[in-house]
Amino acid sequence: MKRFLLVFTLIPYALLGKTGPDFDDYFINKTMRIDYYFTGIKNECRISLDRVIEEPHWTGSMNNLIDTLNFGNHLVEVYDNESNTLIFSKGFSSLFQEWQTTDEAAQGLYRTFSASVLIPYPKKPIKLIHFSRNKKNEFVSEFETIIDPASRFVKRDKPQFDYKLKACLKNGSPNKKVDILILPEGYTKREMRKFRKDVKHFTDVLFAAPPFNEYKDRFNVWYLEVPSEESGIDDPRKGVFVKSAFELTYNSFDSDRYILAFDNKRIRDIAAGAPYDQLYFLVNSPKYGGGGIYNLFSICYSHSDKEETSWWPDYVFVHEFGHAFGGLGDEYYTSDVAYNEFYPLDTEPWEPNITPNATKNTLKWKQFVEPETPIPTPWEKELFDKIPYKNNNDRRELLQNQKYWGKVGAFEGSGYSSKGLYRPFLDCRMFSKSLVDFCPVCRDAIIRVIKFHTE
Ligand SMILES: [Zn+2]
Repeated sequence: MKRFLLVFTLIPYALLGKTGPDFDDYFINKTMRIDYYFTGIKNECRISLDRVIEEPHWTGSMNNLIDTLNFGNHLVEVYDNESNTLIFSKGFSSLFQEWQTTDEAAQGLYRTFSASVLIPYPKKPIKLIHFSRNKKNEFVSEFETIIDPASRFVKRDKPQFDYKLKACLKNGSPNKKVDILILPEGYTKREMRKFRKDVKHFTDVLFAAPPFNEYKDRFNVWYLEVPSEESGIDDPRKGVFVKSAFELTYNSFDSDRYILAFDNKRIRDIAAGAPYDQLYFLVNSPKYGGGGIYNLFSICYSHSDKEETSWWPDYVFVHEFGHAFGGLGDEYYTSDVAYNEFYPLDTEPWEPNITPNATKNTLKWKQFVEPETPIPTPWEKELFDKIPYKNNNDRRELLQNQKYWGKVGAFEGSGYSSKGLYRPFLDCRMFSKSLVDFCPVCRDAIIRVIKFHTE
């Protein structure tokens, strides 16, 4: 397969207060969904087209059509085929790319994952180019195709499912708001009352957390009542397999508490009946777990059956949304792992809150650092690492007693790695399992995403 590096063309749309061309020049108010397959092993990927589908409404921004955030492991660019004008782009991450970091992929077992790209429905033929990041984090073209929106090969069936759409928070037109669609997983028909209660609860939790509290009026929260035949979800390590609506499962990529959704086409077919920029699955289960992938979906378990851990789902709900919406990386690490392969130490990751570069003048978030704060920023890491993970309060007390508590710096220990990777703040919702707020750098990233969708 021919690979070439993307050459960025700078288009001064920013001067016009928007990114991209006029929506009406190139698009109509519908969605084109492009389904395709990722197939490969570690360091090898092949993309094949599955099908193109017309869906009812475009719910993304009509103003910001070119993605300026630079988040995600993949990027899709859409060109008007006749004039070769870039008319739409979007960054996202995928299950495939995450799977590529597993042992299975390293051992050379080929696997296939379905994925979808949603773009506004073009008026004229387009060229679609799919990029993935290489080891140096540069976007490399992996797939290219021409799509004629008038073609008889575009599927135009009415949405297959007809679940009633309900709103938990409604602030305006989906084109001008961030639309979160919450889907129930493992709730039977009889448990729908619990689902409605859970939707309300987690909506309140999200919009109590800064910066979401200040920007609540820029969001809509929708939900579809999709019943599962049986209650709960698959828990393979316990031999539990359940007939649930979306077939979500614990033990994803063989990690017990990791819940993911693999049946992409079924999910997209059901979600087509609702406006969404973000999908959020609530999993009807008391077992700790969740997952969040940038611009793909968030997943969170619904409740704990123990009083002392009743706040854990609230922590998970906001943390996972930090991944899926804000493009944030995990700032935590385990003290016994000295190195890892997830974030190579010689490459700046795209996640805004993790860096291997603790140099004052070039630090990724240097604009947040006060002049007197040393970089890297000292903290009693060895002492912290000696406190068992379960002694949450002792760990927190130690953090709060540090000289640079409350300051943005570069604190070693981040992105699953004890050494060589740095986080911006001593504590953050992406660092500790607690109800602590997002740090200033994470908050800034989230605000940038909110503004991109709504301005
Ligand atoms: Zn943070």
